[in-house]
Amino acid sequence: MKDSRDQLSLDRLEFDNRFTRELPADPDATNRRRQVEGAAYSRVLPTPVAAPRTIAWSREVAEVLGLDEATCTSQDFAEVFGGNRVPAGADPFAMAYAGHQFGNWAGQLGDGRAIALGEVLDRDGHHQTLQLKGAGPTPYSRGADGRAVLRSSIREFLCSEAMHHLGIPTSRALSLVATGDDVVRDMLYDGNPAPEPGAVVCRVAPSFVRFGTFELPAVRGDTALLRQLVTFTITHDFPHLLAQHGSIDEAIGPWFAEVCERTCALVVDWMRVGFVHGVLNTDNMSILGLTIDYGPYGWLEDFDPHWTPNTTDAGQRRYRYGAQPQVVQWNLLRLANAIVTLTDDPDPLQRALTEFGTDYERRFDAMMAERLGWGEPQEGDEELRLDMFELLGRTETDMLIFFRGLARVPLDPDGDLDDQELLDPLADAFYRPDELTAELRTAWATWLRAWAQRVHDGDMDDDEDRRAAMDAVNPRFVLRNYLAQEAIDAAEAGDDSLVLELLDTLRRPYDEQPGRERFAARRPEWARTRVGSSMLSCSS
Ligand code: AMP
Ligand code: MG
Repeated sequence: MKDSRDQLSLDRLEFDNRFTRELPADPDATNRRRQVEGAAYSRVLPTPVAAPRTIAWSREVAEVLGLDEATCTSQDFAEVFGGNRVPAGADPFAMAYAGHQFGNWAGQLGDGRAIALGEVLDRDGHHQTLQLKGAGPTPYSRGADGRAVLRSSIREFLCSEAMHHLGIPTSRALSLVATGDDVVRDMLYDGNPAPEPGAVVCRVAPSFVRFGTFELPAVRGDTALLRQLVTFTITHDFPHLLAQHGSIDEAIGPWFAEVCERTCALVVDWMRVGFVHGVLNTDNMSILGLTIDYGPYGWLEDFDPHWTPNTTDAGQRRYRYGAQPQVVQWNLLRLANAIVTLTDDPDPLQRALTEFGTDYERRFDAMMAERLGWGEPQEGDEELRLDMFELLGRTETDMLIFFRGLARVPLDPDGDLDDQELLDPLADAFYRPDELTAELRTAWATWLRAWAQRVHDGDMDDDEDRRAAMDAVNPRFVLRNYLAQEAIDAAEAGDDSLVLELLDTLRRPYDEQPGRERFAARRPEWARTRVGSSMLSCSS
C-alpha cells in the first residue's frame, strides 16, 4: 500500500524538459562510447543498482521541489534517485561538452557518469534539472565506468548544501543514495585498485551547462549548434538580457559580461571562505556562475595561498587557492573564444574580460573590509591587509578561526591592555603555538592596534554590531577536510550519523552553535598528512 502511494508522489513531479525538447539529440540511441557530433546530448537510461538505500537527503532541496518527508524516506525515493526507476515525465540524457583540463585542450568530455532525469518545475515555477551523478555509463564515459564512490559522493552531497547555506551560488544536492554495489578505484593512482562502496548523488541546478558546452561545437566549427546552445541559454537562463537587448545577437556581449560578473562574485566568495575548488577546468565552470563538480576540493586551513588539495595538480599547483581568480579569468577567455564567432563585434567580449580584473579588485576590497570589521573600504586598507597576510604566513594560522577570533579582539581605545590580552581571542588559530615567538607576538599586537584604529576610522566602534557584521561574513563552520574524512570513515564502517550531524551543523555556518565546538576546531595533527583529508586525487 505504502509503496504505491509513494510511487505516485514522485510520479507527480512536474517535468518540463526544455533541454531535450529544444536542442538537437544524438540520433544514435545506443549506449556505446563515441564521439557525438551535431547534438547537445544523448538519451541514456541510468543503469540499475543492486540495493539502493537513502543515506541522507536535504530537507531544504526537498521543500523547493515540493517533496514531503514521507516521499523522501520511502523506498521508491531510493529507487528513483539511485537510478532504478525512471519517474513519469522524465527524459533521461547525458550532456555533450568539452573542456580545457589543466590548461590543455581535452576534446569531447561530456556527462560520463551523470545522467539528468530532466527538468522539473519547483514550488516557485522555476526549472530545476535533476541529475544523478554516478548513474552508470553513457556515450561520454570514455574508458571509465560511469560510477561514483561513496567517499566522493559524501563530499559532494555535504559540500553542495554547505556552500548553499554559506550563501554562495552552487548546485544543490537532494539525495545521497548508497547503491549496494562495489566500485573499483585506484585512489592514489599508485597501482593499488580496490573495491569501494558506490553511491549516487542527485544534484539539482537550474542548468548544468558549462563553458565547455560551448567550446565543443565551437572547436568543431558547428556554428549552428553553437548558436542553438547560446540561444537556449540566454532565452531560459538570462531572459532579462533578451528583454533588454531585443535579440540574441545584441544580447551576446551583455550575456558574456554577466557571466564574467557572476563568476567574479563567485571567486570572491570562495576566497572569503577559503574554498579551493581543486579542478577549475572549463568543463567544471558553470555558465550560471555556480560552484559545480565537487571533486578534490578543499578548505584552506592554515593561510597558505599556494595550497591545493588536489594531488593530481601537486606539481604545477595550477588550481591553488591564491591562483583561483587568474585561472577563472583564463577560463572566461576560453569561453569568449568559443562564442566570438557568433558576433561580428568582439569588443564587448574583450572589454568584459579586461573589466574582470578591476571588478575583482573592487569586490575583493569590499569583501575584505567587511571581514575585517572596517565597514566600507578606504584608502590605505591594502597596506594593512598585506601586513596581515604576511603575519598569517609567518606561522601556520587557521584563516577562519583567525577571523572569528578577530571579531572578539577588544579595540582598547585607551591603550590599557597588554599584548597578551589583545592576542588572547586569537589563541585557537595557531597550529604551532611554539612558533609564536616574542617578536611575532609583538608584531601581531602592533598590527591589532593598527587594525583597531582602522575600525575606529570606519565608525565601527560598537563591539556588538561589529562582531555581528564580521561573523556574518566569517563562517564558524565549513566542511573542514578532516571532518569530511571522519564522516566518510564512519559511513564506510556503516555509521551514517556523522554525515547527518554535519549536514545539520552546516545549515547555520555563521552561528556560534554552542555544543558544536568540535566541528569548528582546527585540523588535528593526525589529519595533517592523511589521505582524503589533506591529500585528494581526482579518483572518485
Ligand atoms: P571531473 O574531473 O570529475 O569533472 O570529470 C571530467 C570528465 O571525466 C567528465 O567528462 C566526467 O564525466 C568524466 N568522468 C569522471 N569520472 C568518470 C567515471 N567514473 N566514469 C565515466 N566518466 C567519468
Ligand atoms: Mg566535471
